[in-house]
Amino acid sequence: MSSISISELDPAATVVVATGNAHKVVEIEAILSPVMPGVRFVALGELGDFPDPVEDGATFFDNALIKARAAQEQTGLPMAVADDSGLCVDALDGAPGIFSARWAGEHGNDAANNEKLMAQMADVPDEARTARFHSSVALVRGDEVLRGDGDCEGRVGRELRGDHGFGYDPLFLPVETPGRTMAELSMDEKNRISHRFHALEDLASRL
Ligand code: IMP
Repeated sequence: MSSISISELDPAATVVVATGNAHKVVEIEAILSPVMPGVRFVALGELGDFPDPVEDGATFFDNALIKARAAQEQTGLPMAVADDSGLCVDALDGAPGIFSARWAGEHGNDAANNEKLMAQMADVPDEARTARFHSSVALVRGDEVLRGDGDCEGRVGRELRGDHGFGYDPLFLPVETPGRTMAELSMDEKNRISHRFHALEDLASRL
């Protein structure tokens, strides 16, 4: 059920945020609103029940752009923003990468994805367990496309620790928080070092 009617919105002063994750909407608005004064950020789900586009791009950025363009077409509003992210593990040649959400088969099965990562990394020595979360953000304004990219460097742990966050957080030890997994950080701590934060800051610097 939509809670906002598209016809009530000013097309020149609305950015549709193409994500189903309420935390991401808050994070995106917090970083972009200072550089887009007077603009209202509205989650796509508040405007209607739109089908998810097929994310068949070859890169994180391609998939972010597919989501932003779909939101633009579905709502008829000219401005939309979307992100796409995942974990890239050096010892696995960058996997799971763009397949992070569905690496173990079923989309969004975090427990199965983490089991698979622990199994594939079981014999990898400590010094070779480097990895990073990557995020690409796409903002579309009519035909114009703006891009932001960000990373969070770290290592893959050997056991699950912490219960905050989502996805691979319990197995990821950011360089910036020695001894603690991403899932052991508060949401504020995570938001200050996350790949999405860096990608949004990168995008904001282009606005
Ligand atoms: P999305 O593009 O943000 O939906 O992320 C795709 C997948 O990447 C998620 O399902 C997670 O498996 C993984 N991922 C992305 N960002 C994070 C994060 O901040 N922590 C843990 N896993 C993440």
